[in-house]
Amino acid sequence: MLIGSAAVAVAGAGVPGGAFASGRGGMSLRWLGVAGWELLVGGRRVLIDPYLSRLPVFDGEGRFIPDHPLTVREDLVDRHLAERPELVLATHGHYDHLLEIPHVVAKHGSRVIGTETHRHLLTAQGVPGDDVIVASGGEHLDFHGFTVQVLRSLHSQFGSYGYFAPGTLTAPPPSPPATISDLVEGGSLAYQVSAGGFSVLFLSGTANYVEREIAGLRPDVLVLGMSGHANVYDYTARALRATRPKLLVPSHHDDMVTQLDDPALPPRGNPAAAAELAETARRIGLAARVLDPELLRWYEL
Ligand SMILES: [Zn+2]
Repeated sequence: MLIGSAAVAVAGAGVPGGAFASGRGGMSLRWLGVAGWELLVGGRRVLIDPYLSRLPVFDGEGRFIPDHPLTVREDLVDRHLAERPELVLATHGHYDHLLEIPHVVAKHGSRVIGTETHRHLLTAQGVPGDDVIVASGGEHLDFHGFTVQVLRSLHSQFGSYGYFAPGTLTAPPPSPPATISDLVEGGSLAYQVSAGGFSVLFLSGTANYVEREIAGLRPDVLVLGMSGHANVYDYTARALRATRPKLLVPSHHDDMVTQLDDPALPPRGNPAAAAELAETARRIGLAARVLDPELLRWYEL
């Protein structure tokens, strides 16, 4: 669903079941749920924070279970991510971002971009170190057909101005990560993927960013994390003013736990996220459209 001036998504050509956002960018985008995205750039495939397993990390009383074991829903990953991604971009080390990357790499031999800590977490789970490109933010990498700019970023800051499982590693952990607490944040990164004069900025894994890192980027599309930003000053408006995108897409705006094969799973995330993007754009006078994506549906950008 598009909110704003062009309000209708229509069936698109080129991507099975796809819909157009504008159809002019030559890229296609699919939301995998939580903060997971799949981007097609001229037939080449990039994943960002794939997380289809949606671990049930809350008990019957709604309390968070910090020692919930790490288990991958390989059936869902294999079904929905059957095509080989060339590259997997990790925004940070938390379980809902990093968990499935070892499975994807083992199956497809994809390259990963992440921080030194993310590399240590991944090699402890069997990912060959050479498959992980270590970045710290500031890199502008040429994949010859598309480029990836890596941007220094920040994790969301919750009620106490902190977050679950902070930490960094300077060596692989002594034993492989076993619970969700073992996958520490390890620094946060954002990414801009560009090709043919069109770009998509993924501030998608957290609800925070470094304003001076993103100022002036002018992406065509901004995918913005939209939960947990109550304590980040003027979060949405600052991101939109700094980057002035043409299309806004919410990220990390679902319940994170309802299984992908549960009929009770709503087809879209929390509608408040798209509404906040549309309202903020209107308030600051930014002529941007909002795409409130359906889960697992392709959109031609
Ligand atoms: Zn996180």
